[in-house]
Amino acid sequence: AGRGTAVSLERLHKELVRRNPGEPEFHQAALEVLGTLAPALAARPEYAEAKIVERICEPERQIVFRVPWQDDAGTVHINRGFRVEFNSALGPYKGGLRFHPSVNLGIVKFLGFEQIFKNALTGLNIGGGKGGSDFDPHGRSDAEVMRFCQSFMTELHRHLGEHTDVPAGDIGVGGREIGYLFGQYRRITNRWEAGVLTGKGLGWGGSTARTEATGYGNVLFTAEMLRRRDEDLDGQQVVVSGSGNVAIYTIEKAQALGANVLTCSDSGGYVIDEKGIDLALLKQVKEVERGRIEEYADRRGASARYVPGGRVWDVACDVALPSATQNELDADAARILVRNGVKAVSEGANMPTTPEAVALLQEAGVAFGPGKAANAGGVATSALEMRQNSGRESWTFERTEGELATIMRTIHDTCAETAERFGAPGDYVTGANIAGFERVAEAMMAQGLI
Ligand code: GLU
Repeated sequence: AGRGTAVSLERLHKELVRRNPGEPEFHQAALEVLGTLAPALAARPEYAEAKIVERICEPERQIVFRVPWQDDAGTVHINRGFRVEFNSALGPYKGGLRFHPSVNLGIVKFLGFEQIFKNALTGLNIGGGKGGSDFDPHGRSDAEVMRFCQSFMTELHRHLGEHTDVPAGDIGVGGREIGYLFGQYRRITNRWEAGVLTGKGLGWGGSTARTEATGYGNVLFTAEMLRRRDEDLDGQQVVVSGSGNVAIYTIEKAQALGANVLTCSDSGGYVIDEKGIDLALLKQVKEVERGRIEEYADRRGASARYVPGGRVWDVACDVALPSATQNELDADAARILVRNGVKAVSEGANMPTTPEAVALLQEAGVAFGPGKAANAGGVATSALEMRQNSGRESWTFERTEGELATIMRTIHDTCAETAERFGAPGDYVTGANIAGFERVAEAMMAQGLI
């Protein structure tokens, strides 16, 4: 049965590629999951008959729309908006919005597909979805971003609802954008519906620790992986890529646990800081001034150097935490990391490690935390925000962070136990995929052919 299942999964992936042309990131994400499911399918032959895998690979609904807006000079721009409502077996569609010029349907589908399993792994009742636009917020004024967000929401609002579809942020969408989006939703619907978006401001329905959650969660997940090897983060040399929300709060938590964080990066290059990243300065440059990290190096003094065009993976480290974007850590980078003796790699970003790089790291015995487990703290805390919204509650930072820590430990243990159960001890990729899949598949089986 195992062999037969493996062959049909291959056929299934071929069919998926044929039906979804020009979407390489979606193909990659699907192959990565399908490639690990054979033992789970062999254990439950009724999934094949119910075509559970085929159904999971087909979004329940895909929305593509025009987003017209005017810049400060009065020039008209047309962007494309997307929302892929992938799977709602476990709860309302949940997942972020990404505003970046690289966004297209294939990228939104890869992110939405990942989100199904990630959200299932949190143990909370949230389905999978994702959205965004090819709008580039970089260099735009607040007023331009506001007009864009208002236009985007003018179309999207009809598809949302606290029990239907609940977006949040992703690359290019933070507190500012969520504010403008929420304002427009409220105005159009005449409903103060806090649970329709997460990542809101703390004074109007947002949750404590939501901003920090993705980065903090990945560090907690990494610490759990190290603990299994009788190690911790104290005194470890850590390399972080990116300098957005995920990277910043990854650095903050890693430093709190005693690690020395050497790097951060943006699309122009990276900063190496021998004394460890000065987080207050990084936050000033990135969160307050919305600047480039080159400015960080200019202002930091002798300990820091800016390497234009370079990649953080060249810096020797014990732990690498890719926190920028998809496919940023390739096979070459993995070879360098292994040669330099890396012990753990854990994904703060979504799918930052290429399949070849994942294989190289795992073969070398490196602890590898896949994003759908390791970075699930962000969306898990979004679900905690929804819970607070429905009870009209606001939790203390300590309470939300405590719940996040418990969730991350549970996700880690679920992945480890599932990997063990299916004969792949230490393989968090297999553990995460199967554990997430099983929860969604069981719900779909129970709810009939829909
Ligand atoms: N964009 C985040 C992710 O990749 C969070 C989504 C959310 O909070 O809904 O999981």
